[in-house]
Amino acid sequence: MLPYLRDDFGNASSTSHQYGWRAEAAVEDARERIAAGIGAEPEEIIFTSGATESNNLAIQGRLGSAPPGRDHIVVGVTEHPSVLEVAARLEREGRRVTRLPVDGSGMIDPDAVAAALDEHTALVSIAAANGEIGALAPVGEIAQRCRARDVVFHSDASQALGKIPLDTGTLDADLLSFSGHKIYGPKGIGALYIRSRRPRLLLRPLFEGGGQERGLRSGTLPVPQIVGLARALELCLEEREVEAGRLGNLRDSLLERIRSELEGVRLNGPGPGARLPANLNLSFEAVDGERLLLALSDLAISSGSACSSASDAPSHVLEALGHSDSLAKASLRFGLGRGTTAEDIEYAAARVVEEVKRQRG
Ligand SMILES: *Cc1c(COP(=O)(O)O)cnc(C)c1O
Repeated sequence: MLPYLRDDFGNASSTSHQYGWRAEAAVEDARERIAAGIGAEPEEIIFTSGATESNNLAIQGRLGSAPPGRDHIVVGVTEHPSVLEVAARLEREGRRVTRLPVDGSGMIDPDAVAAALDEHTALVSIAAANGEIGALAPVGEIAQRCRARDVVFHSDASQALGKIPLDTGTLDADLLSFSGHKIYGPKGIGALYIRSRRPRLLLRPLFEGGGQERGLRSGTLPVPQIVGLARALELCLEEREVEAGRLGNLRDSLLERIRSELEGVRLNGPGPGARLPANLNLSFEAVDGERLLLALSDLAISSGSACSSASDAPSHVLEALGHSDSLAKASLRFGLGRGTTAEDIEYAAARVVEEVKRQRG
């Protein structure tokens, strides 16, 4: 990123001089590398400010350009707020929204998706992986069900990219959202994959302007962030399998350590085979959640997600699993990552056990 912050400061849309050409070359190189990372074509990648914007562009953009009468959308109840809040607004504006429940481990049933579709359905939006409880959705099957009914399928893949296999050659989704900072890239950058094979999908842009990104996302391109996003993805993909194994083992040992020393611990989300390798989410019975989190401020953990921690409301994802308010609040989400070591896991396990025991005592 540094050369594009310091020396190559050109605007990628300046077509009349070398500064612009160099910036444009960097952007197009990044676009190719990101596309290659997910088995897509470069023209299928649009840069945005992050997954929030990608989700908004996918859903609002599709609804804004769908044929008359296609005014129904289907979402899962555990989606990110940047999907659920868009759905809620569309509903207030007169569109029809189906919110699909999840089972006790946070899984969506593809049959339920198929059953929700009708001739008015414009879009289905189901995330590939849930950030709070790590549940992996059967997006391959859901995509097939949507394709069979000619319904556009969008998936928020910001938690899946770089963490689990993701290839647009095998996953028949029309729209995929990505975020830079979920893959150790810069904040403020993301992408939307828009399938170009089959009839090109039309989207109405969120805002009008200079017509960058084929008119879908006007505004001067943030060249350093784009370069950083591409490199971050390559690094994640290079280490993906090894890291998935390493983090999965660490996560399992964290769970085992805590469970061997404490009663009344519930695993939120599915078992290891159907969840993100680096995610662990636990509820502790008979504990005050806020006090527990406060006592554990030496650990960088949270109860719900950073996206909604500005409010004290319990996580909508844990509530969807059937948890009471108080149990949902007495939950800890552990996110392991590139910097997590076995010593960190030992320390975290010991601290959690100590504090839960202290509070129960
Ligand atoms: C983080 C996240 C988002 C929002 O991404 P930003 O790039 O921060 O806007 C959307 N969906 C999921 C599943 C996420 O984890």
